[in-house]
Amino acid sequence: MKTIGILGGMSAASTQLYYRELCELTHVAMGGLHSPELLIRSVDFAAIERLQAEDRWEEAGQRLNQEALALERGGAELLGLATNTMHKVAEAMMAGLSIPLVHIADATASRIVEAQLSRPGFMATRFTMEQPFYLERLEDRGLTPVIPSADDRNEIHRVIYDELCQSVITAKSEAELVTIAERLGDQGADCLILGCTEVGLLLNSSNVSVPVFDTTLIHCEALLAAART
Ligand code: GLU
Repeated sequence: MKTIGILGGMSAASTQLYYRELCELTHVAMGGLHSPELLIRSVDFAAIERLQAEDRWEEAGQRLNQEALALERGGAELLGLATNTMHKVAEAMMAGLSIPLVHIADATASRIVEAQLSRPGFMATRFTMEQPFYLERLEDRGLTPVIPSADDRNEIHRVIYDELCQSVITAKSEAELVTIAERLGDQGADCLILGCTEVGLLLNSSNVSVPVFDTTLIHCEALLAAART
């Protein structure tokens, strides 16, 4: 099995899910005492969030590039960036690396295409819902994402940063996100992408009526599959 490098901490709440999920998937796939070969670099999200909020994406890309290079030097043979939003700077992050990136949007798009669905509702940070870097990648695979209204985008973004990234889980926010997911269904979504690595803390197939594609879980499966080839 190859060594997986996880660049995480964005937020720490979701990087914990990556570790748990990768361990569980490895155990299911290989049994016994098997566990994944992993390097996890968890950064301080406060510093990254500040760069996002101040629109300093070039600096963010340089910072992640330094961290990715360190993971490669440390022995990572493939890389997973454990956040959808920061894939905005994926190209800058990968500058000078020779190991492959397992891209979270590509892994997710593949699963939706395999399921023969085409109009995914899309719940993510405002950056990911409103800018082309992620949506275009889905569209390139023939998908037509259904984006929430401006009010709903603001609410999802608020719940992600003010609550989920701080491990705050409330029934009120769960109900709000469920309602937004239902509205996306009314707008014609045939499935739902949890396009933020923390949203699975509130939404899953038990409270959403259309098929759910949780980017965290899909990304972990894709990383493990790549590590085992
Ligand atoms: N983890 C989130 C994502 O998947 C949001 C936090 C971030 O901005 O990195 O987009």
